[in-house]
Amino acid sequence: MKTDTKIYDFVIIGSGIGGLVSALILAKNNYSVCVLEKNQQLGGALQTFSRNKRIFDTGVHYIGGLDKGENLYQLFNYLELLDELKLKRLDDAYDVIRLANGKILKIGQGYDNYRNLLLNDFPEEKEAIDQFIHKIQETCTYFPLYNIQLEAEKAYYSYPEILAVSTAEFIDSITSNNDLKAAFLGNGLLYAYDKARTPLYVVALILNSYIKGSYRIENGGSQLTKALVKKIRHYKGDLFKRKEVIGTSTAADGKITTVKCADGTVYSAHNFISNLHPSKTMEVIGEKHFMPATIHRVGALKNTIASFVVNIALKEDEIPYSNHNFYDFFTDDAWNTVDYNMESWPHLLFSCTPPSSKSTQFADSFSSMTYLKVDEFERWKSTQNTIVHPKSRGDEYMAFKEFLEQKMVSRIIERFPELEDKIECVYSSSPLTFRDYLGNKEGEMYGIEKDFNNPIKTIINPKTKIPNLYLTGQNIIFHGILGATIGAFVTSFNFVDSNRIINSIKSL
Ligand SMILES: Cc1cc2nc3c(=O)[nH]c(=O)nc-3n(C[C@H](O)[C@H](O)[C@H](O)COP(=O)(O)OP(=O)(O)OC[C@H]3O[C@@H](n4cnc5c(N)ncnc54)[C@H](O)[C@@H]3O)c2cc1C
Repeated sequence: MKTDTKIYDFVIIGSGIGGLVSALILAKNNYSVCVLEKNQQLGGALQTFSRNKRIFDTGVHYIGGLDKGENLYQLFNYLELLDELKLKRLDDAYDVIRLANGKILKIGQGYDNYRNLLLNDFPEEKEAIDQFIHKIQETCTYFPLYNIQLEAEKAYYSYPEILAVSTAEFIDSITSNNDLKAAFLGNGLLYAYDKARTPLYVVALILNSYIKGSYRIENGGSQLTKALVKKIRHYKGDLFKRKEVIGTSTAADGKITTVKCADGTVYSAHNFISNLHPSKTMEVIGEKHFMPATIHRVGALKNTIASFVVNIALKEDEIPYSNHNFYDFFTDDAWNTVDYNMESWPHLLFSCTPPSSKSTQFADSFSSMTYLKVDEFERWKSTQNTIVHPKSRGDEYMAFKEFLEQKMVSRIIERFPELEDKIECVYSSSPLTFRDYLGNKEGEMYGIEKDFNNPIKTIINPKTKIPNLYLTGQNIIFHGILGATIGAFVTSFNFVDSNRIINSIKSL
């Protein structure tokens, strides 16, 4: 068995945005770090793939909070990433929502734009619009780090009732206008809106961030990975690909001493941070180290729904690049699309033309995404297929995927008829693709689902019962590039002086 004899301060398992940002914060603060990633490519949901000379994003399509001075801008500035990234600010109306009844609604960046565009469409609903905006902004003040603060007058941990507000109940209390409700929740795919569970704080943290600066990354999310990797290396951090962590050794005091990878290599550290889903973390670390009650409690938490993504290579210089996103609904029940019916699937499409450095005028690709439960793939659940472990799932799986692809493409053509004869080829990713490439439980889009019915249960503490094992990533505070970045700061604050870091962020 090969052993890397170096004893790092930190070994980080997984290179999603949470793992990479944790690594960079710690490396920048003079700790020795090593990131171990099971895949051929670093970045988790930021991975891209290339086909027909096009670059396709697997997950992330647009990011919020990036206007100058906003939260993610400030955090990325501290991480020295901004100069490395080619970001494209979306249109003032960054999302366009097209309802099944033909109504077209525009969602604006900047609160003035956001309010004015809604008032244009719903002049008689001024009071509800203002109440909604006020509630969204007020809710965000309960999350200090979201506002680059260490404390808040009323923080969510002292006022946990803020976590128990139902989005649906709140919106129903301010308006009975279904089209306006759809405008408030129309881009709910960003947080997998579920009427029965989604707390208002999740809607507030996500929606507010996009209102405060919606951007695409030119040439795909992997540019963000590249920038993070460059900085981690600059601060002498090590990153290793094709290193699937499969086990650990522990000392008599219960601390982990080493992790073991599938290829037999072993890495030692004083502390370990897992970027994996908490259940997956317990599996990898060894379930014998955790109380059966903990394994059961975490295992029973519901995950967000998975997705089916179609990526289309377009014929050259035919389709104009569109600097906003589309949410197309094919059901009147616009806030209930996670509970789809397979006969009429897909009920909702998120679509965009990713920006490419090749042309600002034309799009070379088109991406669409919708919800799809991993259970639709029950027959193939035991299969695994990645670049590192390639294994075909068989012809029947391919035929089913093609069937779904065709359903998606016909929905796409319904709303984008101009694409019909401009498609060069189509690629798709199923919930199993996401499961295998992200190493998560069910191909879920956003990790553990937050639930207003039992909010404390869905809050994950970065500290674990193992004294030198910590968690990071989308399950800590909330999901998305912003959420997982904030989560990485929360994890790192167990080791670095949080006051000094916050002051340093603010002084930039
Ligand atoms: C389809 C889709 C679309 C999305 N769109 C957006 C968007 O437009 N904007 C936005 O902000 N967010 C979006 N998100 C959400 C966002 O991408 C995630 O919340 C975030 O990237 C999760 O980061 P993470 O650090 O928690 O981990 P992940 O990205 O899940 O990374 C975990 C990493 O751990 C690795 N790993 C797993 N097991 C092991 C092991 N045993 N050993 C070593 N490594 C291991 C995995 O390979 C992976 O690289 C989207 C997500 C999906 C799935």
